[in-house]
Amino acid sequence: MCTTCGCGEGETHIDGELHEHHHAQALAHHHHHREDHGHGAAPGHSRMVRIEQDILGRNNEYAAANRRYLAERGILALNLVSSPGSGKTALLTGTIDNLKGEFPMAVIEGDQQTANDAERIRRTGVPALQINTGKGCHLDGHMVGHALEKLQPGEGTILFIENVGNLVCPAAFDLGEAHKVVILSVTEGEDKPVKYPDMFAAAGLMILNKIDLLPYLEFDVDRCVEYARRVNPGIRVLKLSAATGEGMADWVQWIRAGREHALAGRPVAG
Ligand code: MG
Repeated sequence: MCTTCGCGEGETHIDGELHEHHHAQALAHHHHHREDHGHGAAPGHSRMVRIEQDILGRNNEYAAANRRYLAERGILALNLVSSPGSGKTALLTGTIDNLKGEFPMAVIEGDQQTANDAERIRRTGVPALQINTGKGCHLDGHMVGHALEKLQPGEGTILFIENVGNLVCPAAFDLGEAHKVVILSVTEGEDKPVKYPDMFAAAGLMILNKIDLLPYLEFDVDRCVEYARRVNPGIRVLKLSAATGEGMADWVQWIRAGREHALAGRPVAG
C-alpha cells in the first residue's frame, strides 16, 4: 500500500493544472501551506509510524480549516466514498436532477486520471472541479482546501465530494466534511463492511445502490446491514437505485435535513 498514503505526492492536478507543493500563495481561509510534506526517499521501517502520524496530523489541520470555511457559510459537505464502480457519479447526477432549482450545489471530483466524471457533472449544469491524484488513492484536506478556493461555493450550497474509488485510504483522511457517505452496490460482496471496517466505521450513512439488480443476484441485504452495524452500530442505511430512482426520495430528504442543520449551525454575524 501507499505508506499511509505518501502515494502520489507531487502528482496532483486540480482542474488540469499541476498542483505544485511549493507555491507560496496566501490562502483565503487560513489554509496555510506546509512546505515540509515529509516525502522523498523511502523511509526506513522505524520512521514509518512517525511519518504516518505526521501526514495524518497535517491532514487534520487542513480539514479543520475546511470545516471552519464550510461552517461559516452554512455549506453541507458530503464525502462520497466507495469502491470503483459502485455508481457514485450516477448517484450524483440523479441527486442533482432531484435537487436542481431547490438549492445551490457544487461538486469536487477525485479520480487518479481523467476529467470524465467532472464533465458528466457539468452537463447537469452544476459546477464541478476535477482533482486528479496521479498515483494517489484518496483526496486529502489540502487538495479540498484548494478546490474550495477555486469553486468559491456560496452560502447554503450542498457540496458533494466524490472521493477516489477506494475503500481503504479515504477512511483515514478527513476532508472537513459533515459526513462520509459510503456507497456499496449490491453487485459487490455483502461482507465488504467487515472486510473494510475502517470505512464503514467512519461513515454516517451507508447507501446500498443498484437494488434494482437484487432479483438477479445472491446478495443478502439483511446480512450486509448486520455486518455494517457490527462495525458501526449507529450507521444509517438507505437502499436505492440511482438507475430507476427507487429510494432516491429518502436520500434527497436526508440531504435536505443535513443542509438545514448546516445552515442552522452557521455562526450569526455581529
Ligand atoms: Mg465516479
